[in-house]
Order: sequence, then C-alpha cells, then structure tokens
Amino acid sequence: MIKYNLKCYNNHEFESWFSNSEEFEKLKKKKLLECIYCSSKEINKSIMAPMVSGIKTNSNRQNKFRKNLSFHKKELHKIREFVEKNFEFVGDKLSQKVREIYYDKKTKKSIYGTATPKEKKELAEEGIELLSIPWISKDN
Ligand SMILES: [Zn+2]
Repeated sequence: MIKYNLKCYNNHEFESWFSNSEEFEKLKKKKLLECIYCSSKEINKSIMAPMVSGIKTNSNRQNKFRKNLSFHKKELHKIREFVEKNFEFVGDKLSQKVREIYYDKKTKKSIYGTATPKEKKELAEEGIELLSIPWISKDN
C-alpha cells in the first residue's frame, strides 16, 4: 500500500492510496484519476510517502491525513483489508504491544488495535505516536 501526494493540472494537492505504483500508472492511463477539488484528470505524482506501520508518524502528517478524508468508501475498504491482512490485531492491548515492539528493536511486527485517548497520550509522552486510520465497517 502506497500513499501518493497527487497534484492536478490546477495545482491542487491531495493524497490517495494505491496498492502499488503500477496501480497508479494504470488508473492514470485509463483516466480514472481525478482531482478531488476540480475533477481535473491531469493528475501527477507529487512526493511519495510510504505508509508508516503504527509508530513514528508525526502529528502534522496525521492532521493532514485527517483533513484529506474525502476518500472514497472503496479506498477505505481497501485500507481496512490491507491492515487486516498485514497487521496483527491486538485489540485493546495496543498500547502494551506497541511498547513491547518499540523497546524490543528486533521485533518488526505490524499491529493494530484500539487505544484510549489516555493511553495515546502516555505513549506520546514516551515518544511513541500512533497512526489513526480511518476505519470503515464492512457492512457500511
Ligand atoms: Zn484540481
């Protein structure tokens, strides 16, 4: 899963997720990419930002991420599928598990789960930041 910053002919910038770089090229060739602001089909890649797996993301990027939530539902489903396939679900033990991974540098596990605002704050104080992913329910 790759996140691209895209730029349209009119210089609008927005972000979108693709399963790989070929998918981007394919959609571009078929003119299936379109600016979320002006619907221009002249879309080009700006800077590439690969997905961070949970820790070490900065809040700036997270805020930008949230602001760009004009994702199509299909994309949200794709993100969910990707996370479910590649990440281990740890439920409400997220903050505990994230710490284990963070302090044991050998572990390269990607996990997802839920954390309370209090847990998130405690982790942030330790320098661990969680990436919030827009989660869409399957039947929605
Ligand atoms: Zn545009």
